Amino acid sequence: MFKKVKGFRDIFGKDTFYWQMVEDRFKSFFSKFGYEEIKIPILERTDLFVRGIGETTDIVEKEMFTFQDRDGTYLSLRPEGTAPVVRSFIENKLYEPPSIRKYYYYGPMFRRERPQKGRFRQFYQVGIEAFGSVSPLLDAEVIYILYSFLNSFGINEYLRMEINSIGCPECRPNYREKLVEYLEKYKSDLCKDCNNRLGRNPLRILDCKVESCKDIVKDAPLILDYLCNDCAGHFEKLKEYLDDFGVEFVVNPKIVRGLDYYVKTAFEMVTDKLGASSAVGAGGRYDGLIKALGGPDIPGIGFAIGVDRLVELIKIKQDVEYRLIDCYVITFDEYVKQAVSLVNLLRNEGFNVTLGYDLGSIKSEMKKANRLGAKTVLIIGEDEVKNGVITLKNMDSGEQLQVTNDELLNRLKKIIN
Ligand code: ATP
Ligand code: MG
Repeated sequence: MFKKVKGFRDIFGKDTFYWQMVEDRFKSFFSKFGYEEIKIPILERTDLFVRGIGETTDIVEKEMFTFQDRDGTYLSLRPEGTAPVVRSFIENKLYEPPSIRKYYYYGPMFRRERPQKGRFRQFYQVGIEAFGSVSPLLDAEVIYILYSFLNSFGINEYLRMEINSIGCPECRPNYREKLVEYLEKYKSDLCKDCNNRLGRNPLRILDCKVESCKDIVKDAPLILDYLCNDCAGHFEKLKEYLDDFGVEFVVNPKIVRGLDYYVKTAFEMVTDKLGASSAVGAGGRYDGLIKALGGPDIPGIGFAIGVDRLVELIKIKQDVEYRLIDCYVITFDEYVKQAVSLVNLLRNEGFNVTLGYDLGSIKSEMKKANRLGAKTVLIIGEDEVKNGVITLKNMDSGEQLQVTNDELLNRLKKIIN
């Protein structure tokens, strides 16, 4: 017996109906805003993530699945989508001719984290990236897309949009100094990870989930008090535009993205329903990233939604219909031709239909139909063919009657709706 690898999981049965609800929606949703799909590889060179996410981040320091290829190159399963999309944008010169370019992607991501509620080692993200504008109007629309997409599942009451500005290379170093000065005083009370972060990536401490660190951070200086004029102006405009879009938000000055390439806008759609895994979707502006990865100096902004977490929230709110088989068709060897033509007709009409493959026993086929949760059973036997009818059994009510082909469609539409 083989078991799945720790932190990985199978998704099947009714769960897949929730997943498909999300998967069926984002394509048309993002297209409406002019985003096109980009399919990126699952495997990239490790150094793309080291440069693109940052050496001092948790992801790169300890969460990547990395191995050495035969030629010695280090490769990693992608832990996120932004760096690969940016790599593709640069490599394929998608920035020519210069304009605004907008992409969405979907697929599995891999991080070796401690598995817990809402946290897996293979999880799925759907995300967008927009390149080519520094306007806060773009930031506002990107945030609006995250906000309205998640709310389209009727889970508004569980979600809260939080925004922040994390400044830029002009103003952040000054803030960083003030923050370190403050945190140094509590050095001995910070967790081990945060002691490490203090020298390398102190802003990340604001994001620490350990209670004692959260306490210390409560009174820490806030980046919003240290923004330069450019960043402060951008943030004011963003808030104004968010009002124009009708996005309800709160400012949370503790949100960080923790990396030099990330500037100005940072945001998270958070929930209190999933324990410590609170962010359902998160993103930010990364104006320095494309250049840092060897491309031209083009600004960008994007977000990623954790689909596993989104599905958990939808499950709390609504019971999705498990619609597998509308019609289970039972026949006999002599009437396969008639049965095949009937199932073709029904499938063209949009019904989910399966044939009973083991011909000859109505009783045992009926049992299988029942176990599959089929809504109806259709029987084509000697009598039915002779009289030009079909036997229709409604599996919910138990009602059984003979109908003509024409009647059948009408009746099925009523039963299955
Ligand atoms: P967290 O603070 O929860 O660790 P993060 O900051 O690492 O999240 P991002 O890198 O911003 O997350 O990824 C965007 C989204 O992807 C998150 O908001 C979350 O919904 C989802 N996500 C991240 N890591 C995991 C995971 N291990 N399992 C499931 N979903 C995840
Ligand atoms: Mg994380």
